[in-house]
Parts: sequence; C-alpha cells; structure tokens
Amino acid sequence: MALELKNVTKIYDNGFQAVTDFNLKIKDKEFIVLVGPSGCGKSTTLRMIAGLEEITKGIFDVDGKVVNNLPPNDRGIAMVFQSYALYPHLTVYENMAFGLELAGFDEDVIEARVNEAARILGLTTYLHRKPRDLSGGQRQRVALGRAIIRNAKIFLMDEPLSNLDAKLRVSMRSELIKIHRQVGATTIYVTHDQIEAMTMADRIVVMNLGRIQQVGTPKELYFDPQNLFVAGFIGDPPMNFVYGHLDGTNFVSNDGSMKFDISNQGEDYLEQLKDKRLVFAYRPEHVFYELGGNNPKDCYELEGHVEVSEMLGDIQNVYVVSGETRGVLKAQPSKKFTIDEDVKYFVTAENVRFFDADTENVIANPKFRK
Ligand code: ATP
Repeated sequence: MALELKNVTKIYDNGFQAVTDFNLKIKDKEFIVLVGPSGCGKSTTLRMIAGLEEITKGIFDVDGKVVNNLPPNDRGIAMVFQSYALYPHLTVYENMAFGLELAGFDEDVIEARVNEAARILGLTTYLHRKPRDLSGGQRQRVALGRAIIRNAKIFLMDEPLSNLDAKLRVSMRSELIKIHRQVGATTIYVTHDQIEAMTMADRIVVMNLGRIQQVGTPKELYFDPQNLFVAGFIGDPPMNFVYGHLDGTNFVSNDGSMKFDISNQGEDYLEQLKDKRLVFAYRPEHVFYELGGNNPKDCYELEGHVEVSEMLGDIQNVYVVSGETRGVLKAQPSKKFTIDEDVKYFVTAENVRFFDADTENVIANPKFRK
C-alpha cells in the first residue's frame, strides 16, 4: 500500500510541538526507516500513522484515501514494539493465534496462517513453547508473527530490536529484511541507530527536532548529506568537520592550523565558497596515508597530532587533533601509530564536502555529486 503524509504536524495537549510539517510519500512495499536522536519525533510520527495519536494538522492518506480519522483497527496496520508484549501463560502458537481468535476466524484459517508465519520466521519447532523458554530473538520473532498473521499490508516497527544483545541485533537485522521481502508489506521502522537504518532501509528519513532533515537512499545520505546534521549523524564514526574560510584558493581553518589549496574544486565552485563561513567535511574512512597512485593535484594533505588509537580488530580509529579541530581517521590494523606523533594524511577532492557554517546546508559541487 502507498502512504502519503502531507504537512503533518503534531502539537501535544501541553502545547509541545513534537512534529512539524512532515511530508513524505511512501511507495507500496517500501522499507522506510525513520532515524534520529532521542526526542526528535520518530515515535510520534509512527503513532500518528498507526492512529494511536491524533494528527493536529495535515493529511495522512493510504492509497489515496484520507485516513486521519480512521480508528487504528481499520487501518490495515500491524505494529511491532520494542517490548514483545507476549502473553506469558500462552504458547507461541496461542500467542500468534490470539488476535485472529478474537476476531472470530475459523480454526482452520488460524492454523494455516500461524503455520505459515511460523515457517517464514523459523518458529515451527517452538510453537508449543511458552515465551519464557525462548531467547530474546525468538520472542521478537513471535511478536513479528502476530503482525504477519493479520495479513496487514502495512507494518510499523518501533525500535523492535533494542532489547536484544548486539550479536542478536545484527542477525535479526538481516532476518527482518528477509521477512520483509517474503511478506511484502510496506514497512515503517523507527530507530535511533544509524547502522540499523543504513543496513535495512530502501529509504531513510533523518529527523531532528521534529523536522525532516533529509530523505534518501542509504547511499544518497552517505555521499550527499544535505546539511551538517545529516553529515554528523550518518556514518560510523560520522564525518569530520573543520571550520574555516577561503583565502584565495586555499581553505584555511579558523585557527590557521590547517591550510591547503582547493583550486581543484573548480573556479565556479570556489566563487560560491568565497566570503562564507565554511565547514570542510570528510569521512574517517576516506583518508589514506600514502599517495600511492593518486595524483597529488586531486588530493588535500592534512596533518594531525595523534591523541589515541582504538583497535577494533578489522580496523582502527585514530583520534587526531590539529589546533582547535578534532577528527577521527580510519586505518588498517597493521598501521602503527604512536601517541603524540604527528601524522600526515590525504583525502581526495571528490570525497570532501563543504557546508555553509551559517545555514548549515551543503554547498554542493556538481562536479563531485555521486
Ligand atoms: P525516542 O527515540 O527517545 O523514543 P522519539 O524520536 O521517538 O524519541 P517522540 O517519542 O516522538 O521522540 O517524542 C518527541 C517529543 O515529544 C519529545 O520531546 C517528547 O518528550 C515529546 N512528547 C512525547 N509524547 C508526549 C506527550 N504525550 N505529551 C507531551 N509531549 C510528548
């Protein structure tokens, strides 16, 4: 089912405006992830879609029909929350069947649907267990099962993996994607975890302070963040920022500790950067330490003082400081860093982005758009 939210705003009874002018078209079968820091309005948006929260202003329609005033049960929506809310005294089968029994379905239909959901979710051998005899991941799958057997066309999920340990979260991520493919329901998934968003979404909606910051595919958000908030939110660790300005064809950091020629961005682009307070941004994983086959003309050379290096096994995060600017760089685990050493590193012109420090919006260089 296709969904559309037009200028949706939520003002709570106490006057607090939790969501402002939310506009989004969701395609049939799309997997949308709403992501943002705590309190940004993700759950409020989801609850308005579910019908659990009144929409103060704006329109919400499903397949072209306005549903603002339709009660939750009539919206064809199934919701999965972070707490599984299973009935402890009922078996897995009974937990999944419960909703359909209440709705008066025939036992044959219920059995067929429960068995089918159990098959999709890999729960067939657990149908006679009670929730206490299941792992967290299995309980979460039972909660999903209840949504699946309702044959809902729209799935809403609010941080469904946040009660699971780190390893289980990773495996449930790919399971959820598989389930989504099999069930084919339009899905809106809320999380504050940008890695979950990047790995699962067809499109991500980044929110902050009740407003949409950017909507795009994971790739679009990664390569073309539209503002400093998105650049500082997407990526692990996110982009590094250097505040500064243009001096001739050089970018100079505010404290003067970094200075490099950026004429390879093109004359037209430099014209746009002129006289603005700028943020030069680059990703930790885009730095390299030897020029190798790169043409020096395509690269910027930066320098930092190593404060600490974090070995993660497959990669290390190296924290550097240069004047007032802090940054984090990725490096192969075999590369040796000594605390307090000065390290030179490079980034290519195509991999850096410039933002206007006042508007916080990107100053896009068409030459380097992905
Ligand atoms: P989290 O990740 O912490 O769950 P969220 O992005 O889902 O955060 P919401 O739960 O949508 O955020 O809350 C958005 C804002 O609205 C918060 O500042 C919250 O305090 C406020 N809020 C939520 N519910 C109510 C309510 N019933 N009355 C007044 N304010 C509320």
